[in-house]
Amino acid sequence: MKTPSPITRSRSAELFEAAKGYFPGGVNSPVRAFKSVGGTPLFIAKGDGAQIWDEDGNQFIDFCCSWGPLIHGHNHPYVFEKIVGTLQNGSSFGAPTRKENELAAFMLERLPFIDKIRFTSSGTEAVMSALRLARGATGKNKILKFEGCYHGHVDALLVQAGSGLITFGTSSSAGVPEAFANETIVLPLNDAQALTACFETQHQDLAAVIIEPIPANNGLLLQDLKFLYLLRTLCTKYGVLLIFDEVISGFRVAFGGAAELYGITPDMVTYGKIIGGGLPVGAYGAKSEIMAYVSPEGPVYQAGTLSGNPVAMAAGLAQLELCAADGFYIRQAQRTQSFVDNINDFALKEGYPMELVCVGSIFWFSFNGKKRITAANQIASDMSAFNFMHHFLLDVGVYFGPSGYEVGFISSAHTNEQLDFAATQIKAALTAFYQK
Ligand SMILES: *Cc1c(COP(=O)(O)O)cnc(C)c1O
Repeated sequence: MKTPSPITRSRSAELFEAAKGYFPGGVNSPVRAFKSVGGTPLFIAKGDGAQIWDEDGNQFIDFCCSWGPLIHGHNHPYVFEKIVGTLQNGSSFGAPTRKENELAAFMLERLPFIDKIRFTSSGTEAVMSALRLARGATGKNKILKFEGCYHGHVDALLVQAGSGLITFGTSSSAGVPEAFANETIVLPLNDAQALTACFETQHQDLAAVIIEPIPANNGLLLQDLKFLYLLRTLCTKYGVLLIFDEVISGFRVAFGGAAELYGITPDMVTYGKIIGGGLPVGAYGAKSEIMAYVSPEGPVYQAGTLSGNPVAMAAGLAQLELCAADGFYIRQAQRTQSFVDNINDFALKEGYPMELVCVGSIFWFSFNGKKRITAANQIASDMSAFNFMHHFLLDVGVYFGPSGYEVGFISSAHTNEQLDFAATQIKAALTAFYQK
């Protein structure tokens, strides 16, 4: 676990300078730019298991794992072998291939709440398509979402709460017409009263409710189960479709995601991240009656040149086969829990106002003292402790996603030794920050 010393990041710095001439902000997705933590992004040269190396040869234990997809770490030999084996026969045909059937069959056999799926090339595309399907199937237009949930950069969901009790969204990105944002209602998470009131007054217009059942894109905002059950009950009572956006939680907290973990049956589900084994795949699924609305069977149009790409399907299937092994999710949850407990015990003993929150193999540093956080407005506004820790950890060879609002992931490739090393360094970082 050594880092070359003195640490040099000159190659990353040069590449970033060049990248700024090619891409807005030097990146192809905003969070990569290190704006939140400050400093210059590392350019990653390679990954193996739980480790990554930057272009200067510095080595890190990776807790970002490509923001979630790599549940078995980098370059898992089985996934690698399936990708290369498939690629030998060509990369894309724009015609059906056996690989699509294989991945679909493997998933549907294990996901009792959906009968059919459609593969896309990203989570955003899956969500966008699911919303269109929900609207097409119900003939209604409005969508309810929750503040603090992220569903990709779909126009109608790049919205924030306006003022007032039941608020129609106002767009949170330039380029989203207010008319689109007006089709979206935004409510706080975990607020049973607001939810009930909204259904009572808006149900005639509501096509669907979309929620991350495990909100993990803006902190890890674990919901009260009774709130999620209430949501299911209200959707059923009023004939509103419940969409679980399981792009992060699917195949992560259980094979069947939060739906399986919590025993709640959604009407529609979206997947992404893990489903592609590190290649670009998303999917949406539902019961046959709903999926029958999708073109060419039905009137809701949705398509994709690279959808169901055979190489990506092979990567996804290989990864999901490994996930389906007996005891996999229990083992991953236990390892994550002990990592988290170890650090939390220390923080508590030292009186540091930090608590790691976890579910399955997802964890998040909450700097809001000891208060359990279920909604976006409870997240500590001061991220200085995380930002300090992020840089401290980079210097000792531990890599987290460069934002305190993002969660971390433990893959099956992380060894106990790597987890212990990281925990020790995290404790040292906290001490360095709080005793400054
Ligand atoms: C990552 C994510 C998305 C967007 O997926 P992309 O592949 O980045 O387009 C949507 N919803 C949730 C819950 C996500 O975590």
